[in-house]
Amino acid sequence: MTDCVFCDIVAGLSPAARVYEDDAVVAFLDIRPLARGHTLVVPRIHSSGLADLDAPSADAVFSAGRRIAGALRRSSIGADGVNLLVNDGRAAMQTVFHHHMHVVPRWNGDKLRFAAQLLTRRPHELDEVARVVREALAHGN
Ligand code: 5GP
Ligand code: ZN
Repeated sequence: MTDCVFCDIVAGLSPAARVYEDDAVVAFLDIRPLARGHTLVVPRIHSSGLADLDAPSADAVFSAGRRIAGALRRSSIGADGVNLLVNDGRAAMQTVFHHHMHVVPRWNGDKLRFAAQLLTRRPHELDEVARVVREALAHGN
């Protein structure tokens, strides 16, 4: 184990519901999702935030985020829209200091449900949701 929870997930030392990985990034479901399918994309190389993030990793994170956004729309999760979000720095509500991008599915008229989930943020069916996203990723780019 390292002192970084996301490095541990990248290295396979901690469990996560993985949806995507390549040479540069690993993507897995957020353990306290804001919505069903809420995914985090993290670079394999540790950086605490944008200031020490290398450019190829930055590109790879965005590229994977774009693909996962497509999968969240295409799959049975059926998102109508997606928020791609980076919290950089404590003042911006960053809590895990290994750079990551949130990929958050949104649905038309979901504002109330979204606000309620902001308060509870319970994990639900992470393994099943991860399977659905992986399958959609395998059938599109
Ligand atoms: P931040 O506020 O830093 O942008 O978001 C960090 C996110 O990481 C939070 O949404 C939190 O639920 C998620 N998170 C923290 N620890 C873990 C973990 O061990 N596993 C997973 N899958 N997500 C985590
Ligand atoms: Zn790390």
